[in-house]
Amino acid sequence: MSRPTKAVVNLTAIRHNYQLAKQLIKQPALAVIKADAYGHGATAVAEALQDIADGYAVACIEEALQLRKVGISRPVLLLEGFFEKDELAIIAEQQFICVIHNLWQLQCLLNTILSKPISVWLKLDSGMHRLGLSAENFLTAYQQLIQSPNVQQVVCMTHMACADEPGNSMTRVQLAHFNKLIEPFNPPMSVANSAAILAWPETYLGWGRPGIMLYGASPFMQNQPKSTKALQAAMTLQSALIAIKTVQKGDTVGYGATYQAPETMLVGVVAIGYGDGYPRHAKSGTPLLVNGVRCPLIGRVSMDMLAVDLRPVANAQLNDLVVLWGEALPAHEVAVWADTIPYELFTGITRRIKVEYISGK
Ligand SMILES: *Cc1c(COP(=O)(O)O)cnc(C)c1O
Repeated sequence: MSRPTKAVVNLTAIRHNYQLAKQLIKQPALAVIKADAYGHGATAVAEALQDIADGYAVACIEEALQLRKVGISRPVLLLEGFFEKDELAIIAEQQFICVIHNLWQLQCLLNTILSKPISVWLKLDSGMHRLGLSAENFLTAYQQLIQSPNVQQVVCMTHMACADEPGNSMTRVQLAHFNKLIEPFNPPMSVANSAAILAWPETYLGWGRPGIMLYGASPFMQNQPKSTKALQAAMTLQSALIAIKTVQKGDTVGYGATYQAPETMLVGVVAIGYGDGYPRHAKSGTPLLVNGVRCPLIGRVSMDMLAVDLRPVANAQLNDLVVLWGEALPAHEVAVWADTIPYELFTGITRRIKVEYISGK
């Protein structure tokens, strides 16, 4: 009836992964569902976690309002705070939790009059040099915020640049910097993202912020820590064979004629391409599953299609199932072949892809 290309998202796996994060850190955790829950659908994911999540984290007020619109009443953190002053009235009204990461935001909050006080997460730049206040400004800001009538509570947070590299000493350096600064006033805290939750117990300081691990993908590119074995992949990206042909030794396949058949062989054409979010830079050799059997991608990925070497699989038929990533083929493995990371693969899924939700197992 229609194009067989879709993403199947197992919401039970996302619940499992959230609970795994909580078991590891033994602290409350905000489920990070920014960017439409990393392409998995923020509304569906938020609803699936509603009875167990301590709250959610999103990038901006638009994403937060979308959650309120579908009836999510739990705490929602704005990871980048506000971009314009007039968001503050809505933040207070909706009781969103607001990151303050620069002095402009700080002044806006201190110099306004809010209908209700809000919770603030004050961000220290402990070395990543992306968002956050310097050590020097942080202490003053903290004092000003705890005295402000607009502020209910201040959580001190920071973000790790290299937690996804288990041997990298930068995590300890950043942590020491953060700990030293906040020690005198012992505030509530938040440090750990997925990589930290999976590999750095010393970052279990207050609220966890698991993102990619909720979706069952590993943030580590090599040297997978043992903890990643317990993750359950939530998304299966799948399509089907829409053509099967025999090519002769020396024939080429696809745009640019970049792949040349080493022998007479069967080639399959799969109805998915970069127009669906499958990475165009996936190299020849990238694994995909045809009827559950690993077969290599060959040639260039097109907009709507790609080609696969069918030699490993016996008896492939037209319309047979092809899995691009999922439980038996980790997204991070595909990401390595495409010189990217699972985050980009998931968020790159385009609107053309139908998302089907399942629960169970
Ligand atoms: C996106 C984000 C997270 C989640 O990161 P993952 O690596 O997906 O776990 C945590 N904290 C902040 C500040 C973020 O922006």
